[in-house]
Amino acid sequence: MNNWSKLIQLLLYPPTCLICQQTADHDLDLCPRCLADMPALETTCMVCGIALTINANTCGRCLKKTPYYDKIITLYPYHALAKFLIHSLKFNKQYHCARVMGTLMARHFDKLGHQPEALLSVPLHPKRLSERGFNQAELISHYVHKKLNVPLIEKHLHRVINTHDQASLSAVKRRKNIRNAFSYIGKTTPSFVAVIDDVVTTGSTANEVARTLKKAGVKRVEIWAFARA
Ligand SMILES: [Zn+2]
Ligand SMILES: [Zn+2]
Repeated sequence: MNNWSKLIQLLLYPPTCLICQQTADHDLDLCPRCLADMPALETTCMVCGIALTINANTCGRCLKKTPYYDKIITLYPYHALAKFLIHSLKFNKQYHCARVMGTLMARHFDKLGHQPEALLSVPLHPKRLSERGFNQAELISHYVHKKLNVPLIEKHLHRVINTHDQASLSAVKRRKNIRNAFSYIGKTTPSFVAVIDDVVTTGSTANEVARTLKKAGVKRVEIWAFARA
């Protein structure tokens, strides 16, 4: 589409907010008011990104045991509108929510001042993928990749074990459940990657992905997710 037809399309069909149907921000399906209703995470652990109530840099858990990933960076707490966007995508196939999340993530990560050599996304097991029909993290990663202009590595990171749903398990069982669930098969190994996910809950998936990537020779692994539980 050339610039003129883009402009005409914008004038005839201005983007509308997917929440309130008012005119939305350019290249985002959210209006500034709804966006402001989604307050960003503020005081977080500089390693795992969990919200901190005390004035510290690192949470007790990360101090006790250093995770395999170097950093988890997320934008929003996992509730209200952020949770709604993730659920709409995952369970109601509202694919435009991936664009909203990917765009907001790209805007945020663009300001970090450092860029990874490549992006990856947390894979689903093939069985889970065929049940759902799409991988939400992969959809989001396409938008982050396009907007940040960082190469996207696809089909190198695999989920080789179809793990049980992590939500119902205790922390110890979660770690056991996810152990060896991933494998990395790639001819080239970038030294710094960011792995895209929709939401980080306990961080055990993030940690196992990072362990797999470090074993494959990646030096720095960051996990970039839209929300943090
Ligand atoms: Zn709105
Ligand atoms: Zn931490």
